[in-house]
Amino acid sequence: MSKDLNVSTGSEVVEIRPSRTEVIVKYRKEGKIREAASEKIISSIPLPDLVGILHDPPEEVVKAAGSLVYNSLVCVNIGVKRPGIIDKHWLYFPEEEFIFNRMSFPMNFSEHTTPGGRSSILVEVTHREAGVDPERIRDRVVEDLKKTGIITERDEIEVCDTSAFKYAYVIYDLDHRKNVGVIHDYLDGNGIIPVGRFGEWEYFNMDKAILSGRNAASSVSGA
Ligand SMILES: Cc1cc2nc3c(=O)[nH]c(=O)nc-3n(C[C@H](O)[C@H](O)[C@H](O)COP(=O)(O)OP(=O)(O)OC[C@H]3O[C@@H](n4cnc5c(N)ncnc54)[C@H](O)[C@@H]3O)c2cc1C
Repeated sequence: MSKDLNVSTGSEVVEIRPSRTEVIVKYRKEGKIREAASEKIISSIPLPDLVGILHDPPEEVVKAAGSLVYNSLVCVNIGVKRPGIIDKHWLYFPEEEFIFNRMSFPMNFSEHTTPGGRSSILVEVTHREAGVDPERIRDRVVEDLKKTGIITERDEIEVCDTSAFKYAYVIYDLDHRKNVGVIHDYLDGNGIIPVGRFGEWEYFNMDKAILSGRNAASSVSGA
């Protein structure tokens, strides 16, 4: 990255105000509100949050953003004091009886992910509720893992922590294209280029997310 570039890390964008000539971005850094202005901006902020911090967006844009459908996620990261609990890399669980939909086993991807003599499990629980209790999900995950036989009552769980993600999976409902189109048209007309999985609001993996950022950078630099 160019040493002349002014990169501001640890900054939360709190308001975006498009005007006829530039886009003004207000951001919070170290407790202080600062401002930057540019002819165009590139944003990886998830569309519902982006519209939420726009200054005075049109009603139809607010409505479209409020109608976007997505799944949230709680990950439960588990360390078990027993090596080789399973030889699989990942498993899907479509059955209603289990709270999780997928899990993977980092120790089978690389021995460097897990201390010797231990096994690791990354359990994914998708949901669409606001305010779920990760602790409750964690307890239910351990219970259901025992039901599958992957761990047993005798296993010692040394690590069991949770991480919650509000935006995890874009859902393609019947109005996906229409709603995303309304938001993108407004952003496009106001100097804001949305990028990435939740800016483009598409089911991107990392390769597409990176390409999306690269395309946006090329479009503003003219490269
Ligand atoms: C459970 C799960 C498993 C996955 N597995 C794979 C996989 O195996 N392989 C693969 O290729 N992809 C995988 N993906 C997809 C991959 O994680 C995404 O495609 C990728 O992370 C999207 O990158 P992004 O930069 O678009 O978005 P993000 O990584 O979400 O980045 C958005 C950025 O915007 C920042 N931001 C948001 N709001 C603000 C604000 N107000 N101010 C400042 N900054 C803000 C956030 O902090 C964040 O850094 C998986 C996704 C999930 C949910």
